[in-house]
Amino acid sequence: MSTIPDLEALRALGPAQQPTYPDTAALEASVAKLRTMPPLVFAGECDELKDKVAAVARGEAFMLMGGDCAETFAGVTADNVRNKLRVLLQMAVVLTYAASVPVVKVGRIAGQYAKPRSSDFETREGVTLPAYRGDAVNGYDFTEASRVPDPQRLVDVYHSSAATLNLVRAFVTGGYADLRQVHTWNTDFVRESPVGQRYELVAAEIARALTFMQAIGADPDEFHRVDFHTCHEGLVLDYEHAMTRIDSRTGTPYDVSGHFVWIGERTRQLDGAHVELFRHIRNPIGVKLGPSTTPDDALALAARLNPDNEPGRLTFITRFGAGKIRDGLPHLVEKVAASGIDVAWVCDPMHGNTFEASSGYKTRRFDDVIDEVQGFFDVHRSLGTWPGGVHVELTGDDVTECVGGGDNLEEVDLSHRYESVCDPRLNRVQSLELAFLVAEMLRQ
Ligand code: PEP
Ligand code: MN
Repeated sequence: MSTIPDLEALRALGPAQQPTYPDTAALEASVAKLRTMPPLVFAGECDELKDKVAAVARGEAFMLMGGDCAETFAGVTADNVRNKLRVLLQMAVVLTYAASVPVVKVGRIAGQYAKPRSSDFETREGVTLPAYRGDAVNGYDFTEASRVPDPQRLVDVYHSSAATLNLVRAFVTGGYADLRQVHTWNTDFVRESPVGQRYELVAAEIARALTFMQAIGADPDEFHRVDFHTCHEGLVLDYEHAMTRIDSRTGTPYDVSGHFVWIGERTRQLDGAHVELFRHIRNPIGVKLGPSTTPDDALALAARLNPDNEPGRLTFITRFGAGKIRDGLPHLVEKVAASGIDVAWVCDPMHGNTFEASSGYKTRRFDDVIDEVQGFFDVHRSLGTWPGGVHVELTGDDVTECVGGGDNLEEVDLSHRYESVCDPRLNRVQSLELAFLVAEMLRQ
């Protein structure tokens, strides 16, 4: 399958969750422009990540995926990108050090601009307008003009992703991610929190170990740079198709908009256009599986998306909800494992636990998030399969979007700093707490 399916053929499949552009000539112009743009990532980097995901599937590594629910164009600032990278680096250090397991770091970053919606419309104070579908599609402002899908935004996604990725690459290779910086990542508000102090102890131990290593003359390259990859939901097919290219090394197609792309719970129809595009690309890919997924659905998806059972190719990201995972996940995992399917299992403990607070804010309870991860570990432990990772919505800032956690945020606190344009994210303190709790689960 070294061809790229025709865009018209994909459109003819009637893909779910696509914008309806009023100006189709402008859409074709955007797609044509995108086709001329250089790749954002290289196929070889996607292959490197695929090898790491294969290690996750074998039970030899743990995957940490995290970032915004929805990135925004306005959010492409140095501070914002650095803060997200920093919290992911801190979490990875906690997981690696406390659980002694290699951590595969994948940011929901540099491409996460399009959102599937449960309703096509949004009503506020009696006014109904088209739903916000992410900055890739339309504007968040609640006006008729802003909610019209604008294909120029697809080109803006490319440029915003490129700017973000450029900074991420500079941070990751240019010294900021050097392990000797473990203390400096622990700055500002988080340092004073109990979890920040707990982190400080880990950082001090790592610093001591590094000094020792240096004293005996060992200073490997791994101490100075980290491997970091990007992921996003491959939702808008006009964009993902335009960014799919034949790799000159291998003659096979890769979606070069990000290293890892996933198919969402709402677009994983077996005969749908997303599965059709994804089965042709050679990136490591994920599929979100909600509580309605039957074992046969999972087997059919694996057969379609990874017919050769290539290691590292496929990740199932389960998002059942804390109340459903212990009953719902076992039969899925059992049947997939019994069929000899090579897959990495990752837990998204966010999307099955969203509810609306009485104030109207969409939120999640920190305890539900932890409970779902614990349920995920329990199920995999009891079946002898490997709980391969977590996929979380988080930010490096001190936002108030999820309730609970060490600061014990309550529903009345949500309005203080609720900045997400889509789903509620863990703030930095909550994210670090989650990392410590997951490290404990990994150690058991
Ligand atoms: C998401 O990851 O933001 C998302 C929409 O997830 P799901 O497809 O699992 O609902
Ligand atoms: Mn989300």
